[in-house]
Amino acid sequence: EPQIVWLRRDLRMADQPALHAAAQAGPVIPVYILDDERAGDHAYGGASRVWLHHSLDSLGKSLGRRRSQIVLRKGDAPQILASIADEVGASCIHAIRHYEPWWKEAEDELRDALHDLGGEDRRLCLYDGNYLLPPGSVTTGSGDPYKIYTPFSKAMLEVMPPRDPLPEPETIHSPESWPESDDLGDWGLLPSKPDWAGGIRGFWHFGEAAAHDRLGWWTDEVADYDEGRNLPSDDITSRLSPHLHWGEISPAQVWHKLKDKRSDGWKTYAKEVIWRDYAQNVIDQFPEYPRESYRDYDERTLWRNPNAGHLIREDLECWQKGMTGYPIVDAGMRQLWQTGWMHNRVRMICASFLVKHLLIDWRFGEQWYWDCLVDADYGNNGVNWQWISGTGVDSNMFSRIMAPLTQSEKFDAAGYIREYVPELAELGDSEIHDPPDEKRGDYPAKMIGHKEARERALEAYRASKP
Ligand code: FAD
Repeated sequence: EPQIVWLRRDLRMADQPALHAAAQAGPVIPVYILDDERAGDHAYGGASRVWLHHSLDSLGKSLGRRRSQIVLRKGDAPQILASIADEVGASCIHAIRHYEPWWKEAEDELRDALHDLGGEDRRLCLYDGNYLLPPGSVTTGSGDPYKIYTPFSKAMLEVMPPRDPLPEPETIHSPESWPESDDLGDWGLLPSKPDWAGGIRGFWHFGEAAAHDRLGWWTDEVADYDEGRNLPSDDITSRLSPHLHWGEISPAQVWHKLKDKRSDGWKTYAKEVIWRDYAQNVIDQFPEYPRESYRDYDERTLWRNPNAGHLIREDLECWQKGMTGYPIVDAGMRQLWQTGWMHNRVRMICASFLVKHLLIDWRFGEQWYWDCLVDADYGNNGVNWQWISGTGVDSNMFSRIMAPLTQSEKFDAAGYIREYVPELAELGDSEIHDPPDEKRGDYPAKMIGHKEARERALEAYRASKP
């Protein structure tokens, strides 16, 4: 009997347990459904859609070499999957488990729809595979899932390594006839006029093979991660985040490739990969986490709301466009716009600037990153925004305010600024972090002084505390 593989953020052939199981059970029908309604305010943003297009194209070609293909459909995922299962007489829909609340809901609906169709004869078979371990695997002494990163990470390190990665299926049989499929090009995932995605295409190689090339390169570089990871001018992070997010590579594959490296770099890197599991652990417990604060501030007192007045809206737009007058912030925001990615240290500086210097609600920042990042991830983005804002279950204190100019000097961002803020490229290292007024040319003055911003933020924070 035909087996359906429901693809989501797991666009790979190797270490893909759903594909692996399906291939052993019968002819395989891989299906991808673009289901925009279900995620609401977290439907894929512009940059994610570009990545998705190329990733589907790449996986489609890999399957094509095995005489298979992906069936593409748009609409309500459970309904469409149930109707394909009915049409082809599939006994099982195989899928890797996802933890975004809308996917958990879709999995439940699909299970019910299959039951209505065929009783016990049609089933949804779910597998783990996108994380080192499924959320809830490690627990506190009292058996609860962890809320705080540090003890979570320690407990994870004790049970690592993850299971061995699975190979690509040896054979993938095709069904006698294929269900109808849309054309990827007709989905309009790529921008046309204007084509703003050139920077993204220039910065990245998409797909599973590219992810493994990147990992191969990273195997030699990881030793320097410990020292280099905070320096945006150097290129010493793995840049695997979009590949991991879209499931072009699995964290188990990354772990097993690097685990014998034994350098301090690898030890630090392993903890970052665990952050990714931690974020899923958080959204599994608090499904609305990327949408709601978890600390008891009076948020109406704390934040300036861009919808409440055009001056606040203009502040938000200056930040979005990289025109704040703080070179490190503007370099980061422009890197994000051009390439769909931003260095982690700079992601923190820019996020902190929005919520503390501009006092704008973190959710406006979360949504902007969501739209612009090629690795935009419901868990990672929400958890990191709340961490910076001091509003989450495990957070920095609100009163800890990052000083962007000091950060820029400390982490030696001159080269990075020259690359992304070319109007300052001629300035020397001593001036580029905070250019004197007479050397700014067309580059804007600072929106607000650091000291003034800091005092305003602390005052608002005091007023908002219960
Ligand atoms: P590396 O430094 O090489 O790290 C390896 C991998 O570990 C990453 O690919 C990523 O999967 C994971 N990782 C590293 N740091 C974190 C972290 N802090 N939280 C969770 N996972 C981590 N990461 C996303 O993948 N998607 C997001 O939407 C996202 N939004 C963020 C928003 C803010 C405000 C901040 C401060 C960070 C955000 N991050 C997000 C985390 C981090 O910045 C990126 O994962 C990292 O910069 C990706 O680059 P890399 O692959 O070179 O990372």
